[in-house]
Amino acid sequence: MKTAIVGGGAAGFFLGINLKEMRPDMEVSILESGSRVLRKVLASGGGRCNCTNTFRDVKDLRNVYPRGHQLMKRLMRTFGPREAYEWFELHGIPLRLQQDGRVFPASNDAATIVSRFLKLARELGIQVVNGSPVSSLSQLSSYDFVAVTTGGSPRAEGLRWLQEVGHEVVAPVPSLFTLSIDDEALCALTGTAVEQVSVLIPGTKFHAEGALLITHWGLSGPVILRLSSYAARHLNEQDYRSHLCINWANATEADAHRELVLLTGSHAKKQVTNVQPCALPSRLWQYLAQKALGERAALRWCDLGRKDMNRLTNIVTADVLQVTGRSAFKEEFVTCGGIALSSIDQNTLCSKAVSRLYFAGEVLDIDGITGGYNFQAAWTTAHTAARSIATCQ
Ligand SMILES: Cc1cc2nc3c(=O)[nH]c(=O)nc-3n(C[C@H](O)[C@H](O)[C@H](O)COP(=O)(O)OP(=O)(O)OC[C@H]3O[C@@H](n4cnc5c(N)ncnc54)[C@H](O)[C@@H]3O)c2cc1C
Repeated sequence: MKTAIVGGGAAGFFLGINLKEMRPDMEVSILESGSRVLRKVLASGGGRCNCTNTFRDVKDLRNVYPRGHQLMKRLMRTFGPREAYEWFELHGIPLRLQQDGRVFPASNDAATIVSRFLKLARELGIQVVNGSPVSSLSQLSSYDFVAVTTGGSPRAEGLRWLQEVGHEVVAPVPSLFTLSIDDEALCALTGTAVEQVSVLIPGTKFHAEGALLITHWGLSGPVILRLSSYAARHLNEQDYRSHLCINWANATEADAHRELVLLTGSHAKKQVTNVQPCALPSRLWQYLAQKALGERAALRWCDLGRKDMNRLTNIVTADVLQVTGRSAFKEEFVTCGGIALSSIDQNTLCSKAVSRLYFAGEVLDIDGITGGYNFQAAWTTAHTAARSIATCQ
C-alpha cells in the first residue's frame, strides 16, 4: 500500500511519521513543491517554534480557534496538547513550558524540531521528494491513499484542483496581522507598550483584550493580532478600512471618570499632561489629553470643567482610531479559510467527495490565534488523518 502526502510542512511530516509508526508496511512519500521542506517550522516563533500550548487558560476553544473550534474539540479528545507534548518528548524533542502556557523546544531552537523530523522520516524510510508540486489528482493515481497537507493558501487558485474534484473552498483571507493607523501623532509614540487594553470594532461583535504595542505604522501586540484573527474576514470585506475603538485603561467609564476626578483634587495645581491617570504611559497620556482637550491640555487639573472631564473619560475608555490597512506580522501569519469542514468526514478527515483522500493542517478551514495553537491544529489533524489511513482496509 502506498500513501502520497502532498506538502512537506509541519502537518505533512507529522502525518508521515505517525502513519509509518502505526503501519510500517505502508510506503509513504512526501511530495513538496518547494526546494526545502519544513520551512515554516524553521521560521516559526521567531526561530524558536512555539509548538503547542497547555490550553490551561482556555475556557472556550472558540477564543483560540475562531475557525474550526468544534472540530478541534472533537479531535483533541484523542490527540490534544498533552498527547502532542508526550509525543515530542518521546521522539527525542525535549520541550520547555513557559509560564504563559506556551511550549517551545527546550533548545529554544526550531531547528531541533526540523532536524529531528528529518531524521525520523529517514529512519522510517519515508521518501521525501522536493520540487514536486501537485496540481491534479491524476498525478497521484499510483497511490492508494493521498493526504493533502499543503498549508495555508492566501490565493484561492492554490486550492482550485481540490475544488474541481468536489470540495467546497472557503475563500482564503489572511489572519494575524497588525493594523496601520492614520494618525501621525500616535505613530510618533512608536515603542510605547500598554499592558492591558481592550479593543473593539464598532458595530460588530469583534473585541479583544491584552497587551498593545504602538509601532511606527500603527498598532501591534497580542491584542491586535487576536482581534485581527477574530475579525479576519470582516476586515478583509472592509478592505482593511475600519474604525477601531480602544479602551486604553481597560476600565469602565465610571471607574475612569472617578480616577480622573480624584486627580483634580490630589494634583489640582499640576498641569493635566504631567499627571497620567490609570497608570497610562506618560507619552501616551500627553497624546490623549492633547487629542481630547487641544490647547486646554496645558491647563491645571483644578481648571478643568465638566465637559473637559467627560472628554478625557471618553478618550481614555473609547478612543476611536481610523484603520487604513493591514501589515503582515513578522512573526506569524496564517490563512483563514481553506477546505470547508463540511467537505470532510469529521471523524476521519477523509474527503466526502473523493475516497481515500485526507486533509490535515492549515489547508483546512481551521486557524488559531498566536500562542502555539496553529501548530497544535497541525499535530491534531495530522495524527487523526494518519490513524484513519492506518486503520483503513
Ligand atoms: C513566520 C511564521 C511563524 C509562525 N510561528 C508559529 C508558531 O510559533 N506557533 C504556531 O502554532 N504557529 C506558527 N505559525 C503558523 C504555522 O507555521 C502553520 O500553521 C503551520 O506551519 C501549518 O502547517 P501545515 O503543514 O499545514 O502547512 P505548512 O507548514 O505551510 O506546509 C505546507 C507545505 O506544503 C507545500 N505545498 C503547498 N502547496 C503544494 C502543492 N500543491 N504541492 C506540493 N507541496 C505543496 C508548501 O511548500 C509547504 O512546504 C507561523 C507561521 C509563520 C508564517
